[in-house]
Amino acid sequence: MTHELIEKSKKHLWLPFTQMKDYDEDPLIIESGDGIKVKDIHGKEYFDGFSSVWLNVHGHRKKELDNAIKNQLEKIAHSTLLGMTNVPATELAEKLIELSPEKLTRVFYSDSGAEAMEIALKMAFQYWKNIGRPEKQKFISMKNGYHGDTVGAVSIGSIDLFHQVYGALMFESFNAPIPNVYRSELDDPAQCRDECLQTLEQLLVKSHEEIAALSIESMVQGAGGITVMPEGFLAGVRELCSKYDILMIVDEVATGFGRTGKMFACDHEGVQPDLMAAGKGITGGYLPIAVTFTTEEIYEAFYDDYQTLKTFFHGHSYTGNQLGCAVAIENIRLFESEKITEQVAQKSEALHAILHELDTLPHVGDIRQLGFMCGIELVQSKETKEAYPNEKRVGYQVSLKMRELGMLTRPMGDVIVFMPPLVSTKEELEAMVAIMKEAINEVTSSEL
Ligand code: PLP
Repeated sequence: MTHELIEKSKKHLWLPFTQMKDYDEDPLIIESGDGIKVKDIHGKEYFDGFSSVWLNVHGHRKKELDNAIKNQLEKIAHSTLLGMTNVPATELAEKLIELSPEKLTRVFYSDSGAEAMEIALKMAFQYWKNIGRPEKQKFISMKNGYHGDTVGAVSIGSIDLFHQVYGALMFESFNAPIPNVYRSELDDPAQCRDECLQTLEQLLVKSHEEIAALSIESMVQGAGGITVMPEGFLAGVRELCSKYDILMIVDEVATGFGRTGKMFACDHEGVQPDLMAAGKGITGGYLPIAVTFTTEEIYEAFYDDYQTLKTFFHGHSYTGNQLGCAVAIENIRLFESEKITEQVAQKSEALHAILHELDTLPHVGDIRQLGFMCGIELVQSKETKEAYPNEKRVGYQVSLKMRELGMLTRPMGDVIVFMPPLVSTKEELEAMVAIMKEAINEVTSSEL
């Protein structure tokens, strides 16, 4: 039976972000999950060290979340949001607005983080047209940014490995630098921040009249390598967007819903975006709901008689799905009753100490962390910060070793990503970091 399933998977499936030749060599099929662990079809258990790609909050098979879906199923699974709404989508909207930065008063649903960003881009673009400033058509994106895999989201992304191949498909956007303290020649985070803000301002002085919006991940660049922005950078970007009259799109898809120790990462600096995308943890990691938040000012620019054609012509079949919205409501209730965000803030201090035990390893160059969003950068030389040659695939080798030792995660190049479910206890965090330590040690000390 297990053998048959593996053969079927090899014969029929094509997996996301996966070289299928790698999969064929090391296939893995998950069958069940419980708490912060998942189990494969052979019965082997793994810590879910990356929250099933940065989604999971309360662990797997959380009774309350399971029940929220069952209860909703007794009423209806799905009806459309085109021209009408449904009960849980409406209730959830109110709750989301209560949680989000004050200026954000409207939610537009979709099914994935990429779509939520795509929607933010289209809203920003059409906003300027609707208010009679059609010349504002371009976007600024941040170097090494990642916002998902649809063509619009790829156009404002800038990770060469993922995005370069689609160059001819993309719309052009301006690229602004992001402070990467570890890789900067300026050791001082404040200097590094100010240098990037100055470059951004120069770009804005020259081109702001043709720019609709700037897009930026919130406080931490995830796929770019878990790069934590120096204090004040996001707030500095907000100031510049306001000064030069461009909209600020904040991507909270990875960072939202408690991941960094605040409900949204922009809350660390009191930043009020004009548009904000969220997804992943919104349903506790259960179902595909995403959301684009916006302000009343932007909403009103679309509100008019139909004949003016100011309508936002965008939607998806499953927008506002009842099962997803019902589980998201229960997820938010659990955030409150179990004080999840406060717990992450507290436990991240312990996690900081646990992670820094990796400092003693000779190939751990940098450890970056905001809340439960952590990246461990492996380097060939700690002294010179020289990276490993790509073809050695050190990060990938370490992830395979961790899998053997009982933990799942996916690296970003040679940055080991550690993003455990938010309910992980101190003991579980210790056990997971111990696996990471052993795997890094074994792989980096052997002849690669
Ligand atoms: N934005 C950020 C910051 C992300 O990290 C991701 C996914 O990892 C996305 C957008 C895309 O989200 P999705 O995979 O749900 O399309």
